[in-house]
Amino acid sequence: MDGSHVCTEGESMSKQSEYMKIYNQTHREQYREYQKKWERDHIEWRREYRRIDYKKNRTKILLQRKLIRDNHRKEIFNLLGRKCVKCEESDVRCLQIDHINGGGRKEAKSVNSQAFYRNILTKIRNGSKDYQILCANCNWRKRDENGETLYGR
Ligand SMILES: [Zn+2]
Repeated sequence: MDGSHVCTEGESMSKQSEYMKIYNQTHREQYREYQKKWERDHIEWRREYRRIDYKKNRTKILLQRKLIRDNHRKEIFNLLGRKCVKCEESDVRCLQIDHINGGGRKEAKSVNSQAFYRNILTKIRNGSKDYQILCANCNWRKRDENGETLYGR
């Protein structure tokens, strides 16, 4: 009969949720017990971990970030041609990544420098033509011509 079928199903469902409740309760206790045991077993390790010099870590993290940033920058340069598009200056120390339509500095300010290079790299890889390489001189000249500076006035 249909009625009895529905009834059995409902019953088994409530049994199941009852079971889950008990399951969760016992396992929560087990988990807490496990956590306490872990903390007891790792007292020394935890103390050591806290003792690690924060400043040392910070220097390491900053250095890692710099390496990632430099790699992104290098790759952008390789993709864009490694020389100034105006005067062909090729000394990488003088080269800068220029946002063709301006707004580069606003873009740089809105994110940290790591994300800045990563975002540009992603855009270029996806076929963006918004960026070019300019040497510092040509870049400043361009900024001035665009009215972004007050030099030469
Ligand atoms: Zn140039």
